[in-house]
Amino acid sequence: MEKETAKETVSKNFIEQIIEKDLAEGKYDEICTRFPPEPNGYLHIGHAKSILLNYGLAQKYHGKFNMRFDDTNPTKEKVEFVESIKKDIQWLGADWEDRLYFASNYFEQMYEAAVKLIKKGKAFVCDLTAEEIREYRGTLTEPGKESPYRNRSIEENLELFEKMKNGEFEDGSKVLRAKIDMASPNINMRDPVIYRVAHMTHHNTGDKWCIYPMYDFAHPIEDAIEGVTHSICTLEFEDHRPLYDWVVQELEYVHPPKQIEFAKLYLTNVVTGKRYIKKLVEDGIVDGWDDPRLVSIAALRRRGFTPESIQKFVELCGVSKANSSVDYAMLEYCIREDLKMKAPRMMAVLDPVKLVIDNYPEGEIEYLEVPNNMENPDLGTRQVPFGRELYIEREDFMEVPIKKYKRLYPENEVRLMNAYFVTCTGCEKDEEGNVTVIHCTYDPASKGGNSPDGRKVKGTIHWVCAETAVEAECRLYENIVDEEKGVYNKEDGSLNLNPNSLTVVKGCLVEPELGKAEAYDRFQFVRNGFFCADCHDSKPGAPVFNRIVSLKSSFKLK
Ligand code: ATP
Ligand code: MG
Repeated sequence: MEKETAKETVSKNFIEQIIEKDLAEGKYDEICTRFPPEPNGYLHIGHAKSILLNYGLAQKYHGKFNMRFDDTNPTKEKVEFVESIKKDIQWLGADWEDRLYFASNYFEQMYEAAVKLIKKGKAFVCDLTAEEIREYRGTLTEPGKESPYRNRSIEENLELFEKMKNGEFEDGSKVLRAKIDMASPNINMRDPVIYRVAHMTHHNTGDKWCIYPMYDFAHPIEDAIEGVTHSICTLEFEDHRPLYDWVVQELEYVHPPKQIEFAKLYLTNVVTGKRYIKKLVEDGIVDGWDDPRLVSIAALRRRGFTPESIQKFVELCGVSKANSSVDYAMLEYCIREDLKMKAPRMMAVLDPVKLVIDNYPEGEIEYLEVPNNMENPDLGTRQVPFGRELYIEREDFMEVPIKKYKRLYPENEVRLMNAYFVTCTGCEKDEEGNVTVIHCTYDPASKGGNSPDGRKVKGTIHWVCAETAVEAECRLYENIVDEEKGVYNKEDGSLNLNPNSLTVVKGCLVEPELGKAEAYDRFQFVRNGFFCADCHDSKPGAPVFNRIVSLKSSFKLK
């Protein structure tokens, strides 16, 4: 582990190399990065990578980090997502300070930029329909055909573009196109559309505009206006870079930003596409965008992941130019590592069966001092009640033990964690043969779970005191998709859902301290995993816990 970190700090990723070269050459005095989400959904783990990458670079090189909503495309659902996105980014630990921007505030500058291109003879108003534009565009092997409107005069273009702005044309009847090269091998350079007519109300600018800029035109302008130096995006924009460069060059920005692409983060066996998540929400398969089985940032937070664990995960993933998938188990590894020392280790019985200590004084409750985390004394100790009647896990008792079984069975002695040695004396059963009560005796000299005379016990089991136990609900998760079949159904593209992705366990019994859990409180339940109090459903006295992750895994860091 330490070796891994040491290696990471010496070898720089390719974006850091570019930045260092630019700074060394004096290209920029200070770098500026940005995160530019479209407010059309919740952020997910892939976005976390982009956020932490951009923010981390600004921190590392003492530059600036801008938070910019890329809201140039007016659709209905936008406003509600702005707040959730801000909340998620803050939670992740990326601080934009006072540098919060909205691309829609630049519509005026974008309009002027378009006018500038027209005046330079670099843009024209085109009357072809969307379908005709597509036909004229050509293919990867054939060049495109020039629009018959391409050679309109500058004056005519200026006049028509102004009329477009003034609402004199219907949606789709006219567009403004950059005049570049219909024979370019890069289709993005074949006179791309840069403005379209759309009579739509925008969440920020209302009805002020009825023309809206296209992404490839708007984005470089947004970056340039804000003084962004390194505009980092994902690989699918690589072929758009010549257009990005064309825009900033033709608009003659003194310090043009540069676009750098990196590979998207993909995780195995999870659903990240907004379209699919939306469907899961709408079909009621999950209980909202923050259902703990999803990997939206809101869902990860609700499940119990910490910002530190996600930061660590992103760091381990690294930055690359080649697309690949990361094993979900690596994310689990990161949260385990983070909580190992931070989370108190408590006792919670998920499938309780009663254990009676027949030689323990009736009606007596004693309090045992228990360390909150054996490996981290800083977390202190707590008082755990103990009495004659306890609950243990049903699977910790076998009337007829299988081979190598080390837990409770008649005549066997085990340690009750942090408490005493007990020896099983038998059990009671109901008519169907289910064990209802287990009986045992204890050795008062083994208090604290320590052997009084050097004799050894092989098993240690956890327990809760019956009289003071609090009833809890625990939610256990598996992947939402079927690992064996793969995420998407090859035939119709639907999701291969795992019917066991959620198990709700009611009637769990937990120690009283856990009854006070507040939303997002995280614990290790010994032997059962790491759990987090659910932010919607958990109430003091009636706690609900989400299992973040189990304790063990076969995952190893390479
Ligand atoms: P999705 O395809 O999941 O809807 P998006 O790319 O449409 O995502 P945007 O809001 O446009 O979402 O993206 C904001 C930023 O996040 C962009 O710079 C984008 O490149 C980056 N991003 C999106 N998905 C990933 C990912 N899986 N890994 C890394 N960065 C990503
Ligand atoms: Mg997008």
